[in-house]
Amino acid sequence: MKIEFDSPDDQDDDCHINPYSMIICRRNHLGTAVYAIRLIDEGEIIGLIDGDVIDDPNYSSEYCIDLENGKSLEPAAPFCFVNHSCEPNAELLSWEDDDGATGEEVWLVAVEPIPAGTEVTIDYGWPAESAIRCGCGAADCRGWVVASEEVANVKIPAEEDDE
Ligand SMILES: [Zn+2]
Repeated sequence: MKIEFDSPDDQDDDCHINPYSMIICRRNHLGTAVYAIRLIDEGEIIGLIDGDVIDDPNYSSEYCIDLENGKSLEPAAPFCFVNHSCEPNAELLSWEDDDGATGEEVWLVAVEPIPAGTEVTIDYGWPAESAIRCGCGAADCRGWVVASEEVANVKIPAEEDDE
């Protein structure tokens, strides 16, 4: 199912943000990543995350974002390429609509100034059972792509027992 948005006439100016005026995708040691091409101010909206909403509580994928009501958002480019960091400089936000319901629109917002040339990252906040090794390079990297409150619950995979 494709997310359907209000008609452009009903949207405020934020909906017309062109993320490609702020970011580009290029490859780094982790694969494809998203980089700022100009200074992005703290609190600045980088873009609306476009994608498919999957209405299946058991749905899981590499990039999907959990929404309310057991739904998932499978983001399209460029935002599917935003990597995890344990010290992220951006986060995902969604707003309640006029009826008080959390909408299916998810926005990427800078949580600190992001200089040009800096990778844009978010904290994936995954549960322990989904954790994979983290290569974010942050000074206080958790070592795993996992929510901070879940680090203690991470079980080291059996294939790493030989190390
Ligand atoms: Zn990390």
